[in-house]
Amino acid sequence: MQKLDLTAIRAEFPVLHQEVHGKPLVYLDNAATTQKPLAVLQALDQYYKRDNANIHRGAHALADRATGYFEQTRKRVAQFIGAAEDREIIFTKGTTESINLVAASFGERFVERGDEIVITAMEHHANIVPWQLLCQRKGAVLRVIPVLSDGTLDRAAAEALIGPKTKLLAFVHASNALGTINPAEELIALARKQGAYVLVDGAQSASHLQIDVQALDCDFFVFSAHKLYGPTGLGFLYGKAALLEEMPPYQGGGEMIREVSFEQTTFNDIPFKFEAGTPNIADVIAFGEALNFIEQHGKAAIKAHEDALLQQVVAELADVKGILPLGTAAQKVSVFSFNIQHMHPFDVGRCSTRVVSRCGRGITAHSR
Ligand code: PMP
Repeated sequence: MQKLDLTAIRAEFPVLHQEVHGKPLVYLDNAATTQKPLAVLQALDQYYKRDNANIHRGAHALADRATGYFEQTRKRVAQFIGAAEDREIIFTKGTTESINLVAASFGERFVERGDEIVITAMEHHANIVPWQLLCQRKGAVLRVIPVLSDGTLDRAAAEALIGPKTKLLAFVHASNALGTINPAEELIALARKQGAYVLVDGAQSASHLQIDVQALDCDFFVFSAHKLYGPTGLGFLYGKAALLEEMPPYQGGGEMIREVSFEQTTFNDIPFKFEAGTPNIADVIAFGEALNFIEQHGKAAIKAHEDALLQQVVAELADVKGILPLGTAAQKVSVFSFNIQHMHPFDVGRCSTRVVSRCGRGITAHSR
């Protein structure tokens, strides 16, 4: 495994070269969004200065060039998560839109009155609310697997809740709040035994874990570019080709049509069937540079560094009075959340200087 050159990596992030409150910026909010390396920023700049055109339907040089770069990123994303085919990758606005797309389209086609959707108690709102709306629309029932005090799932409850009525199991691969890595293979096996479909929310796991959607054998895998050093407003939906083909379109217009008349419209093949309108071309192309950044430094090396930082923060805060760590699962990605006794998390986040003096130690607060 290669060793990270931290000085060189820091130099790649222009945002870090500033002072905030009179101190060099220390950014600890990567679970909310990561900062962007220079190559990503330059790719955005280059695209608008040199390549800007609408894609797929243009018959000129710039359109060809932009289309080529755009589709090249689709290929790279497919490789990044081990998808069998490029057409299994759909570009969206983010994890949230990817889940809403599945809830709307898969939900329309497959979910019926009395069916059950199973989620967990550690889901992000983006993996709760779309299912609540779907259940209301279809008369389906939402079931929630509880979380134990150490921040792991109650596996016995999971086994009991995933049953013959389960139509879909939707769970977070790694929690953005607790860091817990859920036992994906085990949960997917439980769903498969009951003939249920599976959606994995990879918004946090894609940054830390090696993803292989074919080995996982999930039906859907969703994640966001902005948590992987890429631009905001861009996300990905992986879906098994055969399933995506059976699902109706999510939105109408633009690239998702084959032929339109006032009487009837026929739809394009996947992935375009799900990509209505002019997509987020510049950000898709720039995301290719984010993947280059990860590849160049090595996902395993990045993870090893993050894991070491996690161990260090856990060890150093262990004997600081009043710090209450949240989520102590053995299998964790490098997300560290904590409460400080008698303080509201918002105040901790806003007033890290005061926190430091109260605790008497050099803590930069992060609680999300
Ligand atoms: N799921 C998880 C686990 C997340 O961490 C996030 C983002 N914090 C989301 C879903 C939603 O992602 P986005 O806001 O990029 O759509």
